[in-house]
Amino acid sequence: MNNEELAELIFPDVKETLEDLDRRYPPRNLPEGAKVTRFAPSPTGFLHTGGLFTSLVARTVGKQTGGVFYLRLEDTDQKREIAGAGKELIEQLQNFGIVPDEGYFGDTEKGDYGPYVQSKRADIYKIVIKEFIKRGRAYPCFCTPEDLNLLRTTQEANKVIPGYYGLYAKCRNYSNDEAAELIKAGKPYVIRFKSMGDHTKYIRVHDLIRGDLNLSQNDQDIVIMKSDGLPTYHFAHLVDDHYMGTTTITRGEEWLSSLPIHLELFEAIGWKAPEYAHLPVIMKIDENGSRRKLSKRKDAEAAVSYFIEKGYPVEGIIKYLLTIANSNFEEWLREHPLDDVKNFTFSFSKMSLDGALFDLPKLRNISKEVLAYKNVDTIYNEASLYASKYDENLKKFILKQPEMFKNIMNIERNQEHPRKDYDVYSDVFEKIKFFDKEIYDEMLAKAELPFNPYISKDLIKTVLKEFSSTLNVEVDESTWFASLKELGAKHGFASSVKEYKKDKDSYVGHIGDVAEMIRICLTTSKNSPNLYSTLKILTPSEVRRRIDSVIQKI
Ligand code: GLU
Repeated sequence: MNNEELAELIFPDVKETLEDLDRRYPPRNLPEGAKVTRFAPSPTGFLHTGGLFTSLVARTVGKQTGGVFYLRLEDTDQKREIAGAGKELIEQLQNFGIVPDEGYFGDTEKGDYGPYVQSKRADIYKIVIKEFIKRGRAYPCFCTPEDLNLLRTTQEANKVIPGYYGLYAKCRNYSNDEAAELIKAGKPYVIRFKSMGDHTKYIRVHDLIRGDLNLSQNDQDIVIMKSDGLPTYHFAHLVDDHYMGTTTITRGEEWLSSLPIHLELFEAIGWKAPEYAHLPVIMKIDENGSRRKLSKRKDAEAAVSYFIEKGYPVEGIIKYLLTIANSNFEEWLREHPLDDVKNFTFSFSKMSLDGALFDLPKLRNISKEVLAYKNVDTIYNEASLYASKYDENLKKFILKQPEMFKNIMNIERNQEHPRKDYDVYSDVFEKIKFFDKEIYDEMLAKAELPFNPYISKDLIKTVLKEFSSTLNVEVDESTWFASLKELGAKHGFASSVKEYKKDKDSYVGHIGDVAEMIRICLTTSKNSPNLYSTLKILTPSEVRRRIDSVIQKI
């Protein structure tokens, strides 16, 4: 029996050939230099921070070269699949503005190169596997799990490289007639690739980030079709990336060691291999100060949902991931703080080679900048959306006093150097809750008011009473502040810290102490946003009410 006949015996229903596939998936008509990239997640659960990073890089490369970025769902490992995870993944990516040009979109698909879900492509893979068998580059393997266990123990005892290769590849040596007998007798089998490599020799590979590398050749007869009729990752990616026209594969560095297998598969079928970029794994410094991979089990921040639940602005996360992606991004960001990051030119050569380090304080800093420069309507909408999903207290606050919320968010916002009060949306409620009358009353009932112990209670009361009775915020900020200084001066407070320091004995304190007293009355703490704005937003009658309550308490 020749190879052709064996292929026919194994796949009698497969009538199409590579030529048919070539016609079905013609080359893409794209301008010179355009790259076709993809994100190819497996639906095994939540979107991992590393996955977001990978998809961001793929999207950036596809878009910036005027090419195509598509999404393919890699669900051939049906044992590991979690129902609904693919759809959730798409939604999470969309949260980050990562919307593929084509591919799998949850309930639908878009594009001419589909299906974009691997489990729906079984017939396509079979056409190619049949061709591999015809060419003598694949064969059925009847080894049982027991056979493979025995193989492993023998190899361990002999201290040789484990796996199914060379002399150890028992089924490789069956003649086609012998294989056909076993198939006809109903023996279950998988299909293996017939490798021609030699692991004592090297293959020179090129990685877009790492440059040229010498890796050991592949000699493993890897499984290309499992007993459930679906291919393994190695084979599926060969077929899909070829027929979907991928030019550039961006994937995790855990795949680098499989590159010789993949290149051998491309060579065996005679297709041009795409370019590969193996992205660094995202690391963190753990509690003991050592560097390790961000772990799905141990680290909350390994799941992208963590950032959404904490209310990180999406642009902050994207900008942060770009600082990991390219060493020159931060400098670009400093020079173009308000520019769309799409204007940054990403390059593989500027990607760091050792694991990218995840730095939460840096992410918070970037996010703080992002929030500070958003306009108030955007802040209002995003905070409302965030609160409706994740922050009941903030939600109640906004619904009760939407205008006031807007005014609070607008304090010192529209200016060249806006205030930077909030890193993330989950910071907001704690910082603004004192504006709410009822919450304020509860806070005051419990508070230990932090008045300056060096200023007498009587003086504090006198100043507060006079402040309250003369309060006028219908004037501009500098006029108001001048009157505050006047009030302070009347009671022995220097009008600036500098003046106070020059002659401490002549004063009871300085204007900052007066402002602090008022702050404490309004917020129960020493911190508040700009005092003038706070007074205006609270309104004079509420300010007086608060001052009266505090005076009674001290
Ligand atoms: N499904 C593979 C993974 O999730 C994709 C690797 C690739 O992008 O080729 O790791």
